[in-house]
Order: sequence, then C-alpha cells, then structure tokens
Amino acid sequence: MTSVTPMMAQYLEIKAEAPDALLFYRMGDFYELFFDDAVAAAAALDIALTKRGKHLGEDIAMCGVPVHSAENYLMTLIRKGFRVAVCEQLERPEEAKKRGSKSVVKRGIVRLVTPGTLTEDTLLEARANNWLAAFAEVRGQGALAWADISTGAFHVAPCPRVRLGPDLARLGAREVVLAEGSDAAAVVEELGAAATPLGASAFDSGSAETRLTRLFEVDTLAGFGAFDRAELGAMGALVEYVELTQRGRLPLLRPPRREAASELMAIDAATRRNLELVRGAAGGRDGSLLWAIDRTVTAGGARLLERRVSAPSAVVEVIRGRLDAVAWCVERDGEAGRARDLLRRVPDLDRALSRLSLDRGGPRDLAAIRGALEGAEALHAALHDTDLPLDIADLVGLEPLHDLLDRALVAEPPMLLRDGGVVAAGFDAELDEARRLRDEGRGVIAALQGQYVEATGIGSLKVKHNNVLGYFIETTAVHAAKMRADDRFIHRQTTANQVRFTTVELSELETKILNAGGLAQEIEARIFASLRAAVLEQADGLFAAARALAELDVAAALADLARGEGWCRPVIDSSRAFEVTAGRHPVVERALKRDGTPFVANDTALSASDGAAIRLLTGPNMAGKSTWLRQNALIAVLAQMGSFVPADAAHLGVVSQLFSRVGASDDLARGRSTFMVEMVETAAILNQADDRALVILDEIGRGTATYDGLSIAWATLEHLHDVNRCRALFATHYHEMTALASKLDGVENATVAVREWEGDVIFLHEVRAGAADRSYGVQVAKLAGLPEAVVARAREVLTALEEGEREGGGKAKAMIDDLPLFRAAPPPAPVPVKASAVEARLSEVLPDTLSPREALDLVYELKQMA
Ligand code: ADP
Repeated sequence: MTSVTPMMAQYLEIKAEAPDALLFYRMGDFYELFFDDAVAAAAALDIALTKRGKHLGEDIAMCGVPVHSAENYLMTLIRKGFRVAVCEQLERPEEAKKRGSKSVVKRGIVRLVTPGTLTEDTLLEARANNWLAAFAEVRGQGALAWADISTGAFHVAPCPRVRLGPDLARLGAREVVLAEGSDAAAVVEELGAAATPLGASAFDSGSAETRLTRLFEVDTLAGFGAFDRAELGAMGALVEYVELTQRGRLPLLRPPRREAASELMAIDAATRRNLELVRGAAGGRDGSLLWAIDRTVTAGGARLLERRVSAPSAVVEVIRGRLDAVAWCVERDGEAGRARDLLRRVPDLDRALSRLSLDRGGPRDLAAIRGALEGAEALHAALHDTDLPLDIADLVGLEPLHDLLDRALVAEPPMLLRDGGVVAAGFDAELDEARRLRDEGRGVIAALQGQYVEATGIGSLKVKHNNVLGYFIETTAVHAAKMRADDRFIHRQTTANQVRFTTVELSELETKILNAGGLAQEIEARIFASLRAAVLEQADGLFAAARALAELDVAAALADLARGEGWCRPVIDSSRAFEVTAGRHPVVERALKRDGTPFVANDTALSASDGAAIRLLTGPNMAGKSTWLRQNALIAVLAQMGSFVPADAAHLGVVSQLFSRVGASDDLARGRSTFMVEMVETAAILNQADDRALVILDEIGRGTATYDGLSIAWATLEHLHDVNRCRALFATHYHEMTALASKLDGVENATVAVREWEGDVIFLHEVRAGAADRSYGVQVAKLAGLPEAVVARAREVLTALEEGEREGGGKAKAMIDDLPLFRAAPPPAPVPVKASAVEARLSEVLPDTLSPREALDLVYELKQMA
C-alpha cells in the first residue's frame, strides 16, 4: 500500500527541484498538477480538482490544463503571484518503452515561469517593458540592475536604500531578486512586485565579474563602464537568476548600460501615482499622460516612449538633442509622415530576437526580423540624405542577413516549424528534391487509383489515407468479393460499410513518400537552425537597428502629436526659470474636448533667481487649482523627456526632482491613516528637495482639524521658502496663508477667477495674481445639488461665522452656539394656551429677515419678558 509508483517517484524528485513553484508535469497532451499544487491551482484557475491514485495511503489530488491552451492558464497564475515550473517529456514514449516495459518517460524542468522572466507574446504587453530587477548591497552601498529578457535591455545604477522604492516605481519592475533575508523585500512588496530571494553567493561580486565577462565574451567589463562591487553583485545575481529560470539557456542581453541618477529627473512613487504618468487612476493606461500622448506606431517605439515618460532626462544636451529630432519631424511634415507609414509595417524586432535566442522562436520570428530589416533599410533610404538630426546609421549594414532571410523564407511562414513549408523553393537543392519526391509520390498514388479502378472495374474504388493505416484502397462491401479474389489486394480492415485493402506497390510508395516527407522536414529544421544562428550572430547589429527604429518612431510620434495639438518647443537651459505662456493640461484638455468644452489656457511665471519662487494658489473648489498645478508638473515632464509641450511658449530651467502631493488622498488600502500618509510624504519632500526641484503641493494639511492643518501648511510653506529654496506651486483653502506673500520675498499669491451671478458661481478657470476673496463653498455645494434647505441653512451659518469673525475671533463660536439648532426640522405642534406677551412678540417676528445679531438680541429681549 505504501509503495510509490515509478511515475510518482519521478514526480516527487522533480518537484523537489522547484519547491516554491507550481509544477506543470507534462503527461501527453496535458500538464498535470498534483498534491498541494493541484489544490492551489484548481482554486486559482477555477478548474475541477480530481483524484488520481493514492500516495502513502492517501488520495492524490490532481488537476490539469491542456497543453495547447496552457499559456492562458499560465498568465492567470502569474498574475495571481504564483511561479510555475514547466516540466516536459524529454523523450518519446517509444524510447522509454525500449528501455523496459515499466520505464517512465524521461522528464525534466525546462523553464521556470515567473513574473519577471516572461517571453511569450501572449503573456506580455507589447507596448510595455517587463522588467526584472536585482538589488544588491555591499557594505552599505546599494545597486540596482534591471533587464527585460523579452527585449534584451540591461541596465545598472547605484541605488542607495532610500532610492530603492522610487527607482522600482519608475521601472514598474514586476519581480525583484534580493539577497535571502534582506529587509528590502518589504519595499518591493509594498510596490506590488514579486520579491525573489536568492542565496548570498549569487550576489558575490567576484563571481559576478567572471559570469559577466563570459556572458559578453570580453576580457574585462571596463569597456562598459566602471562598476562598483554592489553594481557587479546586482548584475551577477540578475544573470544567475535568468540562467536559473531559463535552465541555462540565456537570452541575449545587451551589454549593461550604467545609469547615473543625476542624469534623470528624480520622481518618487507618490508623485508618479499622483501625476498619473504611465498609469491612470484606475490602474490601466487609460487617463494617464502616456495614454494621452502615445502616437507611436511600433511596439518598440511605444516601449521607448514609456521609458522616457517614466524617466525624463535632466541633462540639457540630451533633452535638446531629442527636441531637435522632434522639431525636424514637425517641420518636415511630408518626410516624417512617410517615415511613419514605413514604421507602421515594422514588426517587433526586439522580442522576436529574444525568443530566438531562448530557442523559443518560430518561423514567424525569422520573418519578423526580415520584415524589420526591410523596414529599416527603406527608412534609411528615405532619410539618409536629409539633415534629420538622429543617428540612423544603424538602420543599415545587415543587408547580407536580410538577403539570406529573404531567399530562405517563404512570404508567410507558418506558426510552427513542424508544420513545414517554411523554407522557400529554390533555396536548397536537397530540400527541393525531397519535396519533389514527396509530392510526386502523391501524384503517383492518384494515378494508381485510376489503374485499380480499371483493373477491377469498380468505379467507386478510392485510395485514401489516415493516420492508423496510412494509404489504403477502399471499396464497399458489395464489391469487396471481387477484390478478395485478386491476390494482388491484401485485406487490411473491414468496417461497417467499407472494406479496406493495400498492395505491395502502395506500401512501397507510402514508405517513399514518408521518407521524402521526413527528409524534407529534417532539412527544413536544419535550415531553420542555421538561419537562427545567422540571426543571433548579428544580435548586436539587430539591437542597434531596433534602438534606431524606436527612436525614430518616438520622434515622429511626438512630432505628430505636437502638430496635431498645437504644442510648442520648450526652451531648456540650466537656469531656474519656469515660464509658461498659455499652458494646458494634456489629459484634462483631451477629456474636455470629447465633451466639446474648451480648455482655458493659463500662464505660469515662476522664475527664481536665487531664493525660492513659490506661487500660493487660493480659490474655490472646482475652480481648476489642481488642474493648473498638475499641468505645470506635466509640462516639466514632457519637456525633459524631449517632447514639445501643450503651451504657446515655455522656458524651463532643468528640474532635478519633481514632487507632487495631494492632501489626504485615500490610502486606507495600505493600512495607514490618510493624514499619516500625507505627513510622511510631505516630510520626504522637505527633507529631499533641492534648489532645482519643482514641488507641487495641493491642499496639504486638509486631512486634520482646521487649526492643525493651517499650522502645518503654514510651516511647510515657510520651510520650502527658507530651506529648500525651490520652485513650488502651493494650493490651499486656508485663506489666512495669503498673508505670507507679504512676509516672504519669494511667495506670491495667485487665484483662480470665478464670477458670481445671481447667487451662483461661474468658474472662469483663469489663474490670476492675487488672493481669492472668498471660497464660494456654499455656491459650489448648491451646484452639486445639495438640497435647497441645506444650502439656505449653510448660508446662515456662514454669515454668522463671517460676522463673528469681523467682530473678533472669540465671538464666532458664540454666534454658532446661538444659532437655532434644528432649523430645518418642522416646528413642534403649538400648545393651546393663552397667548402670553412672549408669544405675542414672537408672532410678529419674521425669522427669515433677521440677521443672527438681531436674532440674538431678540432672544435677550424675550428672556427679559419671561
Ligand atoms: P480644484 O482643484 O480647484 O477643486 P480642479 O482642478 O479639480 O479644481 O478642476 C475641476 C474641474 O474644472 C476639472 O475637472 C475640469 O473639468 C475643469 N477645469 C479645470 N481647469 C480648467 C481649465 N483651465 N479649463 C477648462 N476647464 C477646467
């Protein structure tokens, strides 16, 4: 009873190699899961859980997914945070049988599927990178390496612990490799990425160097940059993990690019979320800045654009270089348009290349490379003698490879190599010969049928083919006797209505056809392998071409956007200017346009010479404060990623760090009080912002009691002004703060104009100098559809408060206390008693006409009469 079947023994042995992953154990046309794996997978995939035999006396839980649709199930499991080890049959069942009737087919894990190591098109978003990162720390020095194995991109940068969260947020890394026991795991998980621990030896900088020099086939890494121990450790661990998951089959990785943090605009996770750079409020692309500006026509271009939005540059020359390219495309409308037409037909070169390198590629990937080369050459021909300020030399130089693929492949190859018909006729004489024999054989069979019909006189006789019998002659039972009489025909099978025969001639022919077909398949496989090798040999050139294509796509796409939306080229320098004429919010404008509402453009003049430059913005809710604040932050992002900006003119001194915070946004999901989050985030700004930073604060302090909030907002503004000395836009509903403008040199008041008309408020959405006169909260509430009675009551309370304030602080409270409590409630039923003097006096009163002051006096008067 306790004996373990040979298959179960094999399963357990393989499962032990991947204890943290669900094991997809291949059995024929299914991947089967057993034990706890089966229970977890059945629940996650919502599929049936069954039983298969017993292990140590207990039922074995089992579920399975068909191989042909496994990718969908894989995707679901990965999304739900599982990792999956794929275990394949490494030999055919016949081979196992040869070893003995009880032998189990050899199996082994061929790959570990994890969130950061996906390569299948169906599992990936075509227009986004899928980053795997590794974080290493050596004696207090941190470093982050990241790679997208579906495209080969590979980067590394120094990364102190405090930058880990922001950097991972910038990348949107799906999975992060960390040293076992590292407490950085908490940072990773907070961002929703998978944290994968690896033994400390994986991070050893010495073995990393060996591993990397071997990988890139160089003697020293010096040619790629000077890496410190932490950087080496991070890169080494990343490569080790990729090898581990790909079971030794390494994807093509480009040589690592070292990124210095100072070259990029620093944007932390809260700012990214708040500005909705690449993800909208709902979590998807919709409503994000990227969504509003993406007009790229290739997947590689879309991924580059996403990287640029996520990591705008902080280097004036880099930004100007990108802007030059966009400007050229704006001016040379016709040429740029033609280039876009060519780009539209360019397939995803990076991902085809990566799949081929992992030996997961098929004929279509070769065709994609051919198509990309064709496009690249056409683009080069169209652009090389123009003065386009982009380096397009990498688009050419691979003509021999292109020519080879062109000659070797049919126009539209099938999905799978084993389907055959991948290699074009005329490419290989041996293959042509094998195919001729195979096809001729089929022709000869057709001729044979004619001969047999003639010989037997059975007109309905047919030569047919199926997988069990191969070729056979078929006739109906009625005619069968005639054939049985002829000993040329050998009986094979009798079915309900048919009788089947073969002949020596026919089986010989069949063998010939099969051999020729098998030979053709073999030759095609050989040619495919050699083409794949030829492609991989040119990997560097292909990566360079892919990069050039993506850059061209991004420049042309941004130009198309700039022309279509009337955007302007920003002037970028190293000053501390921030001047925008007629700026707009790209996403809000787009949303309003759909409803046919015009967007009101606004200027921003925030230049600082030495100290701080702060605009303190007051104005009613719904006036457009947040919109204006964010539009300026987005203009900075757009300008520094190398895009034109939604404005008539803009002059920006490079922004080193961008911060954006909104008071008391709901963050309950993460278990912190909203006010606490707000304060933690504000602290981060005050501790980090330097004089090149741009800080956007929207209603900071609103998450607590009025006086607390006001005091915090007040002190925050002073700190920004005196210590951080940065450029800042500060929106508040605390009117008291407008007094700061006269106290602090660098602070000026601004307000969003509204007009009052017959008790209603009309939003003009115009930002002007000066402070808001009042907050119009009651009018806004009325617009929102608050019941009339509540609005009227609110007006009363407001008037009481305002009067109280005019007459000196303390009184305001007394006034409120004196207001009748239940004004909206129906009056109590009159008690039928004789009218007293008090009642007589009361009956004269029209409460609606009384000011609170008069009402109060009346109360005193009545009190005396009683
Ligand atoms: P606030 O922060 O002052 O409460 P918002 O910035 O959220 O106001 O703006 C409220 C709404 O007003 C926006 O959703 C938008 O529809 C509209 N709006 C804001 N700014 C403009 C503008 N400049 N032009 C046109 N409509 C605007």
